[in-house]
Amino acid sequence: MFLRKRALARIANEKVLYERHPGGDIAVCVIYPNVYPVGMANLGFQAVYHIFETARGVDVDRAFLPDPDERVAIRSGGAQLLSFERGRPLTDFEIIAFSISFETDYLNVITLLRMAGMPLRRRERVGRHYPLVIAGGSAVFLNPEPIADFIDLFLIGEGEEMVPEFIAAYERDRIQACPPHNHFHPQGSHTAVSQIGGAYLPDYFQPELDHSGRLRSVSYTGPGEAKVKRQMIQNLDRFTTTSLILTEESVFGDMYLVEASRGCQWGCRFCAAGFMYRPIRYRSPRTLIAEAARGLNERNVIGLVGAEMASVPGVADIAQAVADSGGRLSPSSLKADCISPQLAAALKQNGNRSVTVAPEAGSERMRKVINKNLDEQQILNATTMLAAEGIENLKLYFMIGLPEEQDTDVLEIACLTAKILERVRAEKSSLGRVTVSLNPFVPKPWTPFQWDPMEEPQSIKRKVVLLRTELWRLGGSAIELDAESPRDAYFQALVSRGDRRVGVILERLSAAGCEAPGPIWQELRRIKHEAKNGSIFPDPDFFVTRSYAHDEILPWDFIDHQIHKWFLLSERKKAHYEHQTRPCDVTRCTVCGAC
Ligand code: SF4
Repeated sequence: MFLRKRALARIANEKVLYERHPGGDIAVCVIYPNVYPVGMANLGFQAVYHIFETARGVDVDRAFLPDPDERVAIRSGGAQLLSFERGRPLTDFEIIAFSISFETDYLNVITLLRMAGMPLRRRERVGRHYPLVIAGGSAVFLNPEPIADFIDLFLIGEGEEMVPEFIAAYERDRIQACPPHNHFHPQGSHTAVSQIGGAYLPDYFQPELDHSGRLRSVSYTGPGEAKVKRQMIQNLDRFTTTSLILTEESVFGDMYLVEASRGCQWGCRFCAAGFMYRPIRYRSPRTLIAEAARGLNERNVIGLVGAEMASVPGVADIAQAVADSGGRLSPSSLKADCISPQLAAALKQNGNRSVTVAPEAGSERMRKVINKNLDEQQILNATTMLAAEGIENLKLYFMIGLPEEQDTDVLEIACLTAKILERVRAEKSSLGRVTVSLNPFVPKPWTPFQWDPMEEPQSIKRKVVLLRTELWRLGGSAIELDAESPRDAYFQALVSRGDRRVGVILERLSAAGCEAPGPIWQELRRIKHEAKNGSIFPDPDFFVTRSYAHDEILPWDFIDHQIHKWFLLSERKKAHYEHQTRPCDVTRCTVCGAC
């Protein structure tokens, strides 16, 4: 019973910022496939939970991946996985809806189905009284295939309009299917839910492989076209996306979060958010100031969420308005050349002592390869300005293992960091620390680098050692290096670029109870070894460290993101020639197909 006690204590510590809606008769459990503090920090999860709650006829509850001690108890049979609010077994619901922001949580989706006592695979549930299992969220926009065999229906795109449409269609199907009302499944018939925009029923799509294991074709047996058009909302101001339930246990417990934009105008070639959410959409400064003012009634810190915050129209005014009200604005990430003196001053007035800047690459050459549209002088000017405004700690984001990268580019990360340190010390000797946050490059679907391999973990490790030595030589203890493990990145690349065969690997990892990066890596190594000796498991390297051919059918090609494939390919070619593309001008450009 300690699970229930913990859930009730958590509920008692939550503050719900809206009026609760009376429930209907469709019982839906919205699940975030990670632990409670992570789920409650996720604006997408909070938003979709609220959309289900306000949909007519729905009675909504939540569930999360249990805490580590709770998982031990559930696995040993000493406890049961229950919904968060009412304490009901998940099999009691009519629909369970996963909201998945990060593809690494695909493993937790399978673990949660297992803990719920449900057959994992869709086909094993058909015709039996189990809930309809649906999934949405930014991870499934990109590539749902690794969990396609476990989910009945995906909703591909933004949920604000799609989820109410889904519920309305579901109600129609449910009436048709009467009796019995509950436990309706859309498979095998051309139902209303299968025809809403963004609906992806994996049963309709059957991938076929050639002798080398690549996709040869995908046969389609559903209605209409064999394409799933991802759904987008045009005007962000029509919908607010802010914190709706506050809890100090959330990983952003001291903040009220406000989503400022979707997408990004800059088109960095490695970045999924810059392509999947095209075209860039901003909330108006007036809306953002009003939302921040509402948030200041609850928290002193307003977290401004989006891909790149220095380009948000009116951001300096928003920071100033927050400062004038005695609060602090915490933007998620700033592009160095877009930080205006007004913004730097407002951030200082806000009481910010730390700012994150993302040069992404150390050398001028590599910044051209990734289309960063940012030169060294602009980075140095921005950091000098921030130091002059009293910012004491700088965090610099870089990537390693990018396509076209040489060792000299890696060493230039250290040179640039040392120059930044020198400039800011000259401006303000009290600058505390420069932290270099280093992340291995992971190829993402729907980006110009989707065809590129991830560099071998061993090779990345060698580069990290090279960089660590150079940073120490140039900056000593004033520079801290915080490097993400290439093994974690390997798993991320597997679930980012995998097809349905990766589901077998995920099932095995889940059955073996692998949760932490170490055990996952060990199990993947065993699978690699077995694959070479002819086991049923595919070799993970096939999806991670292999270059995908430009004319190959990609597992996620059936999604229509309205971006021409030739455009992504031309961006890849420009990367090779170190040519940059100008940022989006949505008023007149139509080149990529999204506008
Ligand atoms: S059409 Fe042009 S402006 Fe619109 S998203 Fe594509 S590149 Fe950007």
